[in-house]
Amino acid sequence: MNYQNFDKAQLGALHEQLLAEYEAIKAQGLALDLSRGKPCREQLDLSDGLLDCVKDNADTKGIKGFDYRNYGLLDGIPEAKTLFSELLGIPESRLIVAGNSSLNLMYDALSRAMLYGVVGSERPWCREEKVKFLCPCPGYDRHFAVTESLGFELIPVKMTPTGPDMDEVEALAAADAAIKGIWCCPKYSNPDGITYSDETVERLGAMKTAAPDFRIMWDNAYCIHDLYPDAPDVLADIFAACERHGNVDRVFYFASTSKVTYPGAGVAVMAASEANIKQILKVMGIQTIGFDKINQIRHVKYFGNAENVMAHMRKQADVLRPRFERVLQILSEEIADSGIASWIAPRGGYFISFYVMEGCAKRIFTLCKEAGVVLTTVGATYPYGVDPHDSNIRIAPTWPAFADMEAATRVLTTCTKLAAVEKLLEK
Ligand code: PLP
Repeated sequence: MNYQNFDKAQLGALHEQLLAEYEAIKAQGLALDLSRGKPCREQLDLSDGLLDCVKDNADTKGIKGFDYRNYGLLDGIPEAKTLFSELLGIPESRLIVAGNSSLNLMYDALSRAMLYGVVGSERPWCREEKVKFLCPCPGYDRHFAVTESLGFELIPVKMTPTGPDMDEVEALAAADAAIKGIWCCPKYSNPDGITYSDETVERLGAMKTAAPDFRIMWDNAYCIHDLYPDAPDVLADIFAACERHGNVDRVFYFASTSKVTYPGAGVAVMAASEANIKQILKVMGIQTIGFDKINQIRHVKYFGNAENVMAHMRKQADVLRPRFERVLQILSEEIADSGIASWIAPRGGYFISFYVMEGCAKRIFTLCKEAGVVLTTVGATYPYGVDPHDSNIRIAPTWPAFADMEAATRVLTTCTKLAAVEKLLEK
């Protein structure tokens, strides 16, 4: 039943039918939300053992005699460094274990670059006439917001099934010294769920950049968030790729346990070359005396080692996999044959990226809203909030109750069909 092949009379009849369905949905007075990339209650409950991991002051004693109730250890406690080093495959010398938010670390990294420059800068970035940043899209709205807020010009780059369009990235980065970096969410990307191919990672490490101080903002937010832990996507090592081409200072790497334990009360890490870490700590030491070491030791005590973290992520996957599979099943059943939408079935991460007929996403957002279903604001996944094709809708299946998630997805499919038929009737 490909709608694109329907004649006007067929479209008219379908429109009437869909309108009746839509009015019936509206009459139900729903209040559902498919927009929140947050864990559900069941996921949070998995980490509740954390809450009594630090019971008395004996639990705050560090391996080297440190008392974690007190100031010190700007770059994180040694036990947490060991845990994250094991988990991420990054040497401890390249790690800073910090506070509760990786986004905070990313914001600070770029603010520091603006105010002081980075290793290899000729001057602070704010002293450049113009600074620009590459934004593979669709992407994470908060990434784009950070660079927009700090005064960068945002340059959209197309996402492909293997990561950002590298021909475009290489050409832009080589030609313009004002381009200071690129945002990357390289594994189970937000929102497409794409993992960068080995070739993409290699090319990012190898490419020539006109700016000598170009930075890859490598936000590995979903590094261990596999829906299929027995067959996870495998992301190539960006540090190794950069090192092979003499560009090891190019990477600023970020991750956190926000979606491992508790968002807002997890532990965030930054990784970079030793030269970068030295420069960062110098400035960071002005900003703070140290991060929350009690929370760091709490996480270390709860997990013990990387293997246990991965076992915990299997439990997370067991909660999330049925949700993702159900949304994908509804989309397939309701809409796959109609030729009016497409999507990528993610193998991890937090989102499903739903592509509707060009020029229909905003209309679908409004139809859903009027029927009581909140979607992520259309355009949010693009720089400056503008989706040039008005086509991408980010679905977040993690947060609502299961039945609400199902109901909201059905509303979304009805609204998608209705908007598409309206569009086709306009032609
Ligand atoms: N990076 C990406 C790609 C995200 O999707 C999110 C949250 O949705 C974050 C970072 C936020 O991470 P944190 O809670 O560590 O600040």
